[in-house]
Order: sequence, then C-alpha cells, then structure tokens
Amino acid sequence: MGAGPGGMTAAIYASRARLTTVVLERNTAGGIMNVTERIENYPGFPQGVTGFELSELMKQQAIEFGADLREITSVVALEQRPGGGWLVVTDEETVAARAVVLSPGVEARRLGVPGEAEFMGHGVSYCATCDGPLYRDKEVVVIGGGDSAVEEGMFLARFASTVHVIHRRDELRAAKIAQERAFAQPNMHFHWNGQVRAIVGETKVEAVDYEDLLDHSQHTLPVAGVFFYVGQLPNTDFLQDVVALDDNGYIVTDEHLRTSRPGLFACGDARAGLIKQIANAVGEGALAAIEAEKYLDTLDFEAQQASVAATGTPEPAAG
Ligand code: NAP
Repeated sequence: MGAGPGGMTAAIYASRARLTTVVLERNTAGGIMNVTERIENYPGFPQGVTGFELSELMKQQAIEFGADLREITSVVALEQRPGGGWLVVTDEETVAARAVVLSPGVEARRLGVPGEAEFMGHGVSYCATCDGPLYRDKEVVVIGGGDSAVEEGMFLARFASTVHVIHRRDELRAAKIAQERAFAQPNMHFHWNGQVRAIVGETKVEAVDYEDLLDHSQHTLPVAGVFFYVGQLPNTDFLQDVVALDDNGYIVTDEHLRTSRPGLFACGDARAGLIKQIANAVGEGALAAIEAEKYLDTLDFEAQQASVAATGTPEPAAG
C-alpha cells in the first residue's frame, strides 16, 4: 500500500519471492521522491539522479518481477477478512490480501496562517519541482529551515530572481552540505528568527507578512510565490482504528516491522522511525517484504500441521 521507495522495494522483494503482489498507489509511483528535484544521497548515482528518474527505475524493476502496480487508486479502508487476511478497500475495488505492507508515506504539513489555504494554487505551493518554473524572474519565499526548504529553495533559485528563506530560528536544520551551497547562492537571502503571520494579496499572492521573533517588529516582503516546507504529516488517517499509531500519527512497529495487527507490516516515512531518507525506506521495504513472506510461510506450515492432525493429509500450500 503506497508506491514510494519503501513500497516499491517491498514489491520487488515480494514478487521475486513469487508472492502474488499488488501495489496500490493513490497518485503515481514514487511518492515524495517523485517531486524531489535532485537526489544526491542515494547510493549508485554519483552524479545524483532526478526524483522522477529514480521513481521510474524502481517502478520498472517492481513491474519487471511481476508486481501488479495500480496507480491513481486510493485506499479508503482496511478491514479484517472473515477467515483470515485483510480486505484493502479502494475507491474502485476491494483487494483481498493475506498480508499487507503499509507504506502510505507523508505529505506536506500546512502552517495554517491566514491566506495559506485561500491562495493555494494562486501563489501558495508545497512543490517547487512542480511549480518552480512558473516563477521565472520573480521573487519567491520559502518557509522553513529543513532539508526540503533548503534543497527546494536551491531549485527555485534557478528560476526566481530572488529566493527569500524565512526561518523561525537563526540556524538551519538542513544537512551541512546543503547549507553551504545555499549560503553561496547569490540570489538566496535568509531572514532569520522570522515567523510568517499572513499571506496577502487580492486574487493571488502579492506579499508575505512576517514577524521578527527577537524584537517583534513586523515586516512585509513583496513576493509572487510562497513555498511552505514546515515539516510533514503521515498519511495514516484511514489507519487510526486499525493499527497502533504514535502521538504524531506514525505507524508503530517492532524491529521486524510488524504492526500491532497480524499480517500488517509497515515501512517508509509513515513508520515511526528515526530518519526519513530514501535509503532507509528502501531497507525497510526489503525487511517488511521478507518478514511478510516468513509470516505467510508460518501460516502455511500451521495450516498443514492442522490438516495432517485432522485428516492425515497435508493441505495444499496457499501460494
Ligand atoms: P523538517 O526536517 O521537519 O523541517 C521542518 C522545518 O520547518 C524546520 O526548519 C522547522 O523549524 C520549520 N517549522 C516547523 N514548524 C514550523 C512552524 N510552526 N513555523 C515555522 N517554521 C516551522 O521537514 P523537511 O525539511 O520536510 O524534512 C522532512 C524529513 O525528510 C527530514 O527527516 C529530512 O531530513 C528528510 N529529507 C531529507 C532530504 C535529504 O536527505 N536530501 C531531503 C528532504 C527531506 P525548526 O528547525 O526550528 O524546528
């Protein structure tokens, strides 16, 4: 469930184990990776690789080994199947599965300031890769100080005349190498200790109002676009009554990536883990699929033992 790097790796492993493998993805394969401009920390690509390209390669590899990838298919519910296994209910069909790897990923968190929702698609964006080219020779602002803000800000700097970064502290959270590049970028300007208060305009974004948190002075920055990178939220609403989630909504697993319910495994950014990285999601995807396979083997073995005890004849393997 979910075709980000974790889900697609799980699909590669599961289909190579000759399990019938269906991948359900509400958008197109790749998840957030798909809208990441350039990935430099995934091994095997010394020159870096675009998120789109890496998504396509993983997708091809999963399909090559027999995974049945169903894109633009939203999972709306997960129900226990009478007699064992799970029913994955989508907006189009219900898929019966003996085991499910949950990899729903994360989405951009909203800051919730006035103007943010109103101007969505009219100057407010959460995806520089998608919307950056619309801001050629214009001034834009990026809000946040993490890896996403800095990397996507650097991408925007190719098009925009100026990229303002408003960050609520006086140091960035992003990786040091990304910081070094951003500080060396001539058209990137940092506004430290700033908290955005409102996005203003008539029919589209015209300016950002922010407060200097040190002296409480108010400022207005005239810009055509605002890109929010203030963190992420897991796509786990539909799992609330299904598996244990932590206080922030991330899926809780044990070290075998088993969730609180039998037959449900989890991997990737929506799992309660320490880091959010493609390399990590890939490792978790491999482990989740291997653990799911072991779980199915155990179920088959137990069914055989029960059948022998009852009839003296083993039950054929479920496949
Ligand atoms: P993030 O690391 O959680 O950073 C969010 C940023 O938004 C932080 O700078 C935070 O400020 C700021 N922020 C949060 N709430 C705010 C608020 N209410 N008002 C103003 N600012 C606020 O999110 P992310 O950058 O999207 O990254 C998510 C995860 O993906 C991270 O683990 C990151 O390392 C990973 N990632 C990795 C790469 C890479 O390896 N190349 C690329 C992208 C993302 P504070 O710093 O003050 O908390």
